[in-house]
Amino acid sequence: MAGLPPFRGFLIDADNTIFDYDRAEREALAGALAKAGLEPTPAIHEAYRRINDGFWRAFERGAVTQDALKVERFRQLFAEEAPGCRADPAAVSRRYVELLAMQVHLLPHAASAITDLAGRAALGLATNGLPEVQRGRLERSGLGPCFRTVLISGEIGIAKPDPRFFLLGAERLGLSPSEVLCVGDVPATDIRGARAAGMASCWLAAPGAVWPPEEPGPDYTIRDLRALAALSPPRVFP
Ligand SMILES: [Mg+2]
Repeated sequence: MAGLPPFRGFLIDADNTIFDYDRAEREALAGALAKAGLEPTPAIHEAYRRINDGFWRAFERGAVTQDALKVERFRQLFAEEAPGCRADPAAVSRRYVELLAMQVHLLPHAASAITDLAGRAALGLATNGLPEVQRGRLERSGLGPCFRTVLISGEIGIAKPDPRFFLLGAERLGLSPSEVLCVGDVPATDIRGARAAGMASCWLAAPGAVWPPEEPGPDYTIRDLRALAALSPPRVFP
């Protein structure tokens, strides 16, 4: 049974919930492609996203390791989009990961909303991704101290939407699952996973985003992280 507000804890997704991931990916990819002598055209960016998604799905099925994924996505990109390219996919991947870890573009109101919420409830960052990328960005954002725990799929070996990911998050917050609200922008991972864990869920809907009709709906929908204040206990002033 999903809980009711006020929630004593929040498990909050990182990419496109707190961080502008689309911009981070675009900028890091442009830098990595420059290393390969390639122009960052919209077509190559689109191909990268498609190939990268495919490798992450394969990773979630256990069909590829994280280390292989990092390199093979670039090998496939070059094979498809730049057959003459002689760049070493491993070197380009290293550069991409370095650059991505440095991209800290917070979404509007994210910093103030997270800082405020940390004074009301226990927060956990709950993200699918590479530890070196996500830890670097969290540190540089200055929001690290707001989170009591950080769950990164690449570190714990479980990825959203696996319900064990969310249950581990509640456990690490020292709360029962019914006391925690799971917040994120992706219906098929953030919301589906929270539901599978029997936890309450909150969809952060990007401008223009439409809920996919095949997915059971979230408990809450917000347009802006500041709305979480209304679902949390009153702020505690030390
Ligand atoms: Mg996200």
